[in-house]
Amino acid sequence: MRQHYRARAQLLAIACSALAATASCAPDALPKRTGLTVLIADEANGDSWPSYGRTYSENHYSPLDEINTATVSRLKLAWSYDLDVLQRNDAQPLMVDGVLYVAAGFSIIHAFDARSGKLLWRFDPEVAAVAAQKMRPSWGIRGLALWNNKVIFGTQDGRLMAVDARTGRPVWSTQALDTSDETTITGAPRVFNGKVVIGFAGAERAARGAVLCFDAETGKFLWRFYTVPGDPAKGFENKAMEMAAKTWSGQWWKYGGGGTVWNAMTYDPELNRLYIGTGNGGPWNWKIRNPKGGDALFLASIIALDADTGEYIWHHQQNPNEAWDYNSTMDIVMATLPIEGRPRKVLMQAPKNGFYFVLDRETGKLISAEKIARVDWAKGYDLRTGRPIENPNVRYEKGPIVMWPGTYGTHNWQPMSFSPKLNLAFIPTIHQADGYSSEGIEPATWQPARNRGNTGMSPLPKDGPLRVPTEDFGSSLQAWDPIRQKQVWSRPNPGIVNGGTMATGGGLVFQGLIDGNLNAYEAATGRKLWSFFAGVAVLGAPITYRVNGKQYITVAAGPTSGAPAAALTGQAKFGWRYTDHPRRILTFTLDGTGKLPPTPPPGREEPLVSDELVPDPRLAEEGEFPFRTRCRTCHGADARAMGGAPDLRASAIPLNREAFRQVLLEGAMVERGMPKFDDLTDADLEPLRHYIRKRAMEDATTATSKRPPASADAGGV
Ligand code: CA
Repeated sequence: MRQHYRARAQLLAIACSALAATASCAPDALPKRTGLTVLIADEANGDSWPSYGRTYSENHYSPLDEINTATVSRLKLAWSYDLDVLQRNDAQPLMVDGVLYVAAGFSIIHAFDARSGKLLWRFDPEVAAVAAQKMRPSWGIRGLALWNNKVIFGTQDGRLMAVDARTGRPVWSTQALDTSDETTITGAPRVFNGKVVIGFAGAERAARGAVLCFDAETGKFLWRFYTVPGDPAKGFENKAMEMAAKTWSGQWWKYGGGGTVWNAMTYDPELNRLYIGTGNGGPWNWKIRNPKGGDALFLASIIALDADTGEYIWHHQQNPNEAWDYNSTMDIVMATLPIEGRPRKVLMQAPKNGFYFVLDRETGKLISAEKIARVDWAKGYDLRTGRPIENPNVRYEKGPIVMWPGTYGTHNWQPMSFSPKLNLAFIPTIHQADGYSSEGIEPATWQPARNRGNTGMSPLPKDGPLRVPTEDFGSSLQAWDPIRQKQVWSRPNPGIVNGGTMATGGGLVFQGLIDGNLNAYEAATGRKLWSFFAGVAVLGAPITYRVNGKQYITVAAGPTSGAPAAALTGQAKFGWRYTDHPRRILTFTLDGTGKLPPTPPPGREEPLVSDELVPDPRLAEEGEFPFRTRCRTCHGADARAMGGAPDLRASAIPLNREAFRQVLLEGAMVERGMPKFDDLTDADLEPLRHYIRKRAMEDATTATSKRPPASADAGGV
């Protein structure tokens, strides 16, 4: 199998060398360099987009201004490319020296000539063949890194890999994560000083959070910083873990503890530090994880580490003893802001919990924290102690609650951008609530199960007085002033989860939307100036760069896929279908002349009508819970797919017991990304089949009548 992908990379490399006489081919276009440090550190030069947040400040801002408020009306498609990828396509590309690097699906890496859209090479690490149980979280890649002629990226199965940026040939590969657990690498690695750091996801899968550092030239392991303590009987890795363990009780290490670093990592070249954002507790239910209370360090925190050694410097915890799947893993942006009359080196973050944080990055001291949307769980923060002032019963001590924000957070991983020219942040904002209940959960005997999101929570009681107001869910794009701590403007957006944002020196903010539009707004006012319909949802964060003096903008588009955009009720209605709609790369420039290929219009999936299996109501009811915990992330809430995977209501496979068994138990469709569920038995399959067919028949027969809103419950991302 390794031979197979090598062969493919070689074929493309040969194709490329045949083109070497033309100036557009990657090998000639990429000069030898000793590293990208200067490029990533250069905030003023907008020619490249060499790192996830463009530069070390991670602000997703480019100073380029050829495309600006006056010229944006001339912005046209330069080229588009429909990828041969089945899964998510919402990662952010990178561009250096005229070559665009694109990651999609299960870490399939592509290099394009940025001007023409010509594919230079494609590398497929064949994740499905080796990922086994790590396939089940089904996230896929969200970003990549460039360093010294290497493209560096993580995989769902926990490899950290480097391929030659000129040829796509493998350079090194390190099994960074344990193969036996369910942790996965989804986020972009960050590179600095010849080192590469990664985090991983899996707080709901019994993970103990950590960030790992490797040599960027060789993939050799250098250091690891755990974010939560392990079993005290085994001793502590460092003083920070010893300190953290004093804030936990019970036997938390048996459940992993969580605190995974699945997204935000920001390198500070001024202070030679790495700031990491940590995730929620695993399980969410603190009564299981930390029964006597205590802060549970370092869950839901920003931690500053020495970038050379990974040693702890300071932390700020946003949610002591986190209990709601809130996490602090959203992008961490650096800036120098005038605060109370003097310039302060700050970090900024809009995490899930609904506040916008400004921290002094030298000391970790909280400067401000204000609500950017409806927040029920706290009144605010005490700036003297840096701690939140929680409202009563938000820890579901006295029974179930419904609370804003929910588990998707007010802001999720889709990057916000920050314009240092305007000192404004542009935040893709989510308005969503959740129910939280621990009724019927026995903390003393609860155990995490394999292959599912372990929250330690229960659904809201059916027919009880509490319900989640899904009809009030929504989204917006807002501009936030972190100095005055005020919203400057806000625009409603379609659906619930939309793309990340990019701000430019041309006074523009770009954002792709679930409805298939890429929009440009005047950054100062929020006035919409430009829009392009991409034929499919645009959920990647755009990038911009300059080649031969001309400014380009590139963005990834594709059917909604990979939570949190996936499983949320309300995302399906836009009609992006897994099988029909493309995973598309779009590049724009002033007066571009590209044409989109024909694309099917959006529209609902048609459930298959059949008498072959008459759903048994009892079995179907039994199948609802396993569907929600095993299938929903990909196949959609209430079995209404939203593009992340085939719509099972429209599939003939559930009609046939044997076909269904082969797919689930024997892994007949693993290569297409459908994991094998070999921990299920034949007896587990019938309820699932009946549930899926019941949903198909309901939606087929009531297609024109109004159905009541589907119930939402703690979904888990
Ligand atoms: Ca989570």
